[in-house]
Amino acid sequence: MKVIKEDDLDKAIESLNKGNLIIFPTETVYGLGANALDSLAVDKIFAAKNRQSNNPLIVHLKNKEEINKYAIINNDVERKLINYFMPGPFTLILQKKDLIPSNVTCQLDTVGIRVPIDKIAHKLLEKLSFPIAAPSANKSTKPSGTNVLDIIDDFTDSVDYIIDGGDSLIGLESTVVKVIDNIPTILRPGFITKEDIEEVIGKCHVSEYLFKKADGQVESPGMLYKHYAPKTECILCDKEIINDFIDTTKKVIVIGHNLNITCYKYYDYGKTFEDIAHNIFKLLRQADRDKADLIIIEATSIKSLGLAIMNRLIRTCNYNYKRYNENS
Ligand code: AMP
Ligand code: MG
Repeated sequence: MKVIKEDDLDKAIESLNKGNLIIFPTETVYGLGANALDSLAVDKIFAAKNRQSNNPLIVHLKNKEEINKYAIINNDVERKLINYFMPGPFTLILQKKDLIPSNVTCQLDTVGIRVPIDKIAHKLLEKLSFPIAAPSANKSTKPSGTNVLDIIDDFTDSVDYIIDGGDSLIGLESTVVKVIDNIPTILRPGFITKEDIEEVIGKCHVSEYLFKKADGQVESPGMLYKHYAPKTECILCDKEIINDFIDTTKKVIVIGHNLNITCYKYYDYGKTFEDIAHNIFKLLRQADRDKADLIIIEATSIKSLGLAIMNRLIRTCNYNYKRYNENS
């Protein structure tokens, strides 16, 4: 795999045209992309990631006017969501048209559609005659890739080019929404929050599986699997009791904000939700490179963007959440 810059996009385009894989920046996280209309190219994504064959991919379009080519907008709620939140870090699940190969959606009759706003992603899509199918650029189960260093070793043989766009602006994957019985339902929280959607539509549900393990039939198959986890064991912990879990004879790394503690290494994930989202996956990768015995991550509130952060961290920690007050 070669690292290229924005002024070398033609190389990435040639690769995509040949049915190969590239990695490209978006405002959420980096994407592992292939021609979404070429089922053989799409197969290569599942192989490169070790992704389960029932976890569907998001299709990235250059603009929202293209949606009608690939999906059917069935109601005004869907229309409104598109008008307000696209382009941006927002994925809408729509009824699929036949042009999208069935392996993109893992045989579902719906497809996740997104129009990224990132300048490089947009420029790339503008130059192509097809949309890009892309999951996050990480091996399955691992934290999403938000910068070149964290991605490059995992895809040396399976990907032709990675386009370097620096650190991902947001750092967490898109909000995934499906309209069910005319009400938007958040299947995966992200930068576009429940509150943002309520302001536009009035009512918004969230999936019951944001914080608990799913099994069997779920609206979003991605919820079924281990995700966002470094190699090192992690626990999620309320600020007040972090000290109780630090064993000073072991290499314990703590990730949080403004903590005054003694441990092997401490990483500050920033003050605001935006800071935490931006930094968290990169810090988890760094902690893995430090070869720690344990990573303790400070829990945040679940208000606003905190919902998306905690949804990822609960999985990072395999649901091991130590609470200060069990009733909180
Ligand atoms: P990733 O590609 O790693 O960002 O993951 C994409 C997420 O979108 C996963 O959680 C998928 O389950 C979800 N997704 C994609 N397409 C669909 C669909 N047609 N229906 C429901 N969820 C979807
Ligand atoms: Mg992913």
